Amino acid sequence: MSIVHTELSESIDRLVANPVIARLYREWQDLAVGDDLPAFAAFDPEARPTLAGHLMVMEPGDGAFRYAHYGFRIAAAAGFDMTGRLTSDFRSEVGAFFERKYREVIESGRPLYTVHHAEHVAAVVSWERLIMPVRSRAGDRVIVCYNVPLDRKAEILDGLMDASMDGIVVLQPVRGGDGGVDDFRYLIVNRRAGSILNREPDSLVGNLVSTVYPQATGRLPVYREVMATGEPRQFELSAQLEGETRTFRLSTVRAGDKLVVTLSDITEMRRMMDQLERQQTDLLFANETLQEQAENLVSLVEDIEEARGQAQAAQRFVADLMEAVPVPLFYWNLDGTLNRANRHYAAVYGQTTETIVGKRPEDILPPHVAKFLREHNARLLSGSETNQMYEGDVETAGRGRRRFVVHRALMRDPADRPTGIAGAMLDLTDEYALRRELERLASTDPLTGLYNRRVFMERLEQALALFRRYGQPAAVALLDVDHFKSVNDTYGHDFGDKVLVDLARLLRGQVRDDVDVVARFGGEEFVVLMPETDEHGGCLLAERLRQAFADLAFETPAGPRNFTASFGVAAVIADDDVTSLLRRTDEALYRSKDAGRNRVTRAGSPPPGPATAIC
Ligand code: GH3
Ligand code: MG
Ligand code: MG
Repeated sequence: MSIVHTELSESIDRLVANPVIARLYREWQDLAVGDDLPAFAAFDPEARPTLAGHLMVMEPGDGAFRYAHYGFRIAAAAGFDMTGRLTSDFRSEVGAFFERKYREVIESGRPLYTVHHAEHVAAVVSWERLIMPVRSRAGDRVIVCYNVPLDRKAEILDGLMDASMDGIVVLQPVRGGDGGVDDFRYLIVNRRAGSILNREPDSLVGNLVSTVYPQATGRLPVYREVMATGEPRQFELSAQLEGETRTFRLSTVRAGDKLVVTLSDITEMRRMMDQLERQQTDLLFANETLQEQAENLVSLVEDIEEARGQAQAAQRFVADLMEAVPVPLFYWNLDGTLNRANRHYAAVYGQTTETIVGKRPEDILPPHVAKFLREHNARLLSGSETNQMYEGDVETAGRGRRRFVVHRALMRDPADRPTGIAGAMLDLTDEYALRRELERLASTDPLTGLYNRRVFMERLEQALALFRRYGQPAAVALLDVDHFKSVNDTYGHDFGDKVLVDLARLLRGQVRDDVDVVARFGGEEFVVLMPETDEHGGCLLAERLRQAFADLAFETPAGPRNFTASFGVAAVIADDDVTSLLRRTDEALYRSKDAGRNRVTRAGSPPPGPATAIC
């Protein structure tokens, strides 16, 4: 900010609005004749009492001007009195500036009008000055300066100060003999400050703080410190305002060589701060509780997550396991929909798991199977059965008809409530075929394909039991190839085998299908069990067999050859067991041999001594 914002050396009376300045200027012009300056007497403050308060008289001295007169109004506005002091006491830009200007005026002999910003005077925003050179009685050139605050600006400041919600006090330090600040004088007190301090502002202005508040000694050191250090300070005080205790914050700031004290009513703010503090405490407490709850929640969530993770792992394990087991597996919900199934189950019906899960039996299975399943489910759910196993053929997609054994069970949760029906389908098609083959192998003679001796003995036991219980007759014919040793010897063992195979086929062809049992009893011995047949009937069949074999021609290198066999026939009699019956049959066979072979002999009723009956 420049110090001077107006500077006029010509036509001052026409250009300056202040009538006093215009008049003084004209007076000066009238009194100045040529280069001669007006006499000091014309402007001597003593002679001009109405102007004296605004006049300054400055005498040039060694390098500085001495204030021979310093108007009391100026002193009041400025807050200090310069009478007798030197311009060089103003160690400021303004001081230096005016010292220069005064010298110019002395040298030029022309008045100068200036408007400048007040730097050291808080009460005045700017001053206007008419600086006039005059001649003293001693003939020296001295300065008479008319110095007046520019009221318009001061009013603006006053307006602002009055409008301020804060109290504003400007204090002028009062220095003692040692130059130290002893006290402060009220320079400006705005309306708000007056009401806070409970005093008329006018009653304060010009007075010392220590006089107004003899008891407020505590504040003075603070003011002094701010004045000395330039560090702003704040403190609070309470005051009764309109019957109410209110809290004020005093901010003390040094401005130039003045102290500005701002008084802010912080009662509401303090109240709100207290409230905020209480809320803060409440919040802190609430926060702690929340924190605790949050921690609990977090650990709960962690537990749930862990449990979910375990459940998912278990689910995955079950799913993987179901897929890994090469057996159709399924799990039906209680509402009848398919909860899950593995691909092997889906494949049985030519489906994929995606297409069947969630469906009902009738959507997946043939109608009769779906119906069958519903009935079985109902029995499990009613509790009448806990496990089910059934066997059945399924027309599979692509693998033909297959035999499955299905195991099903009702599943329950830990509280023992039914949750669904789980099961597995075991494809036993191949096992059944194998078992049948094994049975066949275990019961037949490898060379001829006839039943072996073990099966024959079982059947014979059954026939004996039927005889004992129901009196059902049964006959047994035992036959042995005649001179078979020599057949082997003559034509070779393989030829002998062929004879045995052809004989076996002949025997099977001659007996009743599914009634008579033909078996190979030993080397070239065969046996026929004839249920529902007495000894006579047995002899008739044996005779027919004997004849057929005797008629069967075998090709040999020496031409066609016929062979014969000898027969023994016995019927079941009371108290017979396997051993006694077979012994009688065997004896009859030997009698055929003894009698010349190629014949049938019946055992007859024992004991007739050596049996002789030939059929
Ligand atoms: P017989 O009229 O007294 O019964 O005279 P045989 O020669 O038949 O007498 P024997 O019962 O002592 O001889 C049976 C012969 O049958 C002995 C054995 O080498 C032969 N044989 C037994 N089993 C088989 C077989 O599976 N294949 C062949 N090729 N020969 C067999
Ligand atoms: Mg024999
Ligand atoms: Mg023989």
